[in-house]
Amino acid sequence: MAVPGGLSRASLGVAERLPVADHEENRHMGTPERPTAAAGGGPRRLPMSQLFRRNRPEEGDQAPPPTLVASTGIVCTLAGCSNDTARPCAYRDGRGRACGAVYCPEHGVSTDGKFYCRRHAGVLRAVGAQETPQGGLPDVDNRAPSLVSWIARDLDANVRRLLSGAARPGESVIADETVHVARDFSRKARWEQSWRLVDHTGQILKVTIQVFEENDSLVRVHVGSGVIADAVPPWIVHRTEDSDVATDTAHRQRFYLWLDESIFMAVDRFRTERQRLN
Ligand SMILES: [Zn+2]
Ligand SMILES: [Zn+2]
Repeated sequence: MAVPGGLSRASLGVAERLPVADHEENRHMGTPERPTAAAGGGPRRLPMSQLFRRNRPEEGDQAPPPTLVASTGIVCTLAGCSNDTARPCAYRDGRGRACGAVYCPEHGVSTDGKFYCRRHAGVLRAVGAQETPQGGLPDVDNRAPSLVSWIARDLDANVRRLLSGAARPGESVIADETVHVARDFSRKARWEQSWRLVDHTGQILKVTIQVFEENDSLVRVHVGSGVIADAVPPWIVHRTEDSDVATDTAHRQRFYLWLDESIFMAVDRFRTERQRLN
């Protein structure tokens, strides 16, 4: 995956582009509140800001070329689409409930021989299509896994770089490939994805993105034993609105910049403290 040491210059142009309505979480970007910081301040202009660029594959670019699809007699439910080639989403959650969404091939996703709405294709990607988590797939209306996955993919390159930068000889960085569920004492579920700095004796530092099932819009970031960020992403603040609103690139970038910097400062504190102790 990402090589520590930064992104290539060629990738920077891509980073500024936004996918157009290609992702459930991305479709309803409104005018967000500034993310609230759990510890110390919002976005800040640091020189290192220059290093933080988003670089992710654009799923929207992978739309299949138009092919002739036989009519199913069912009209796609996406607003503005009149294709009568729609099929139901094949998603079934751990309680056996079906999704109910009906989309044409253009507005759904085919994967592993099955057809899903984009949202549930995202959930399967988040939890890993190969293995079904204990208790079955997440509830049909649960956005937590895909939100964790979305944020983790965006932070991945920087978190790997920061942890690699803090590593000593013999230590390495291990990253979760997918989102997984964890439960607290009262069986409350949360979805998580982590990066770990490890050596042969075990874990040294862990960075975790976490979203609780009962509040699936709040993103929490842990570094070590501390919560360093608690925020509702700007594109979710207004996601209850029905219509797509203008994409606010500046707010989105500021949100990620703030997360990147919060993680940077926490990892840097860890590194400084460690040096002091030796
Ligand atoms: Zn359609
Ligand atoms: Zn679905």
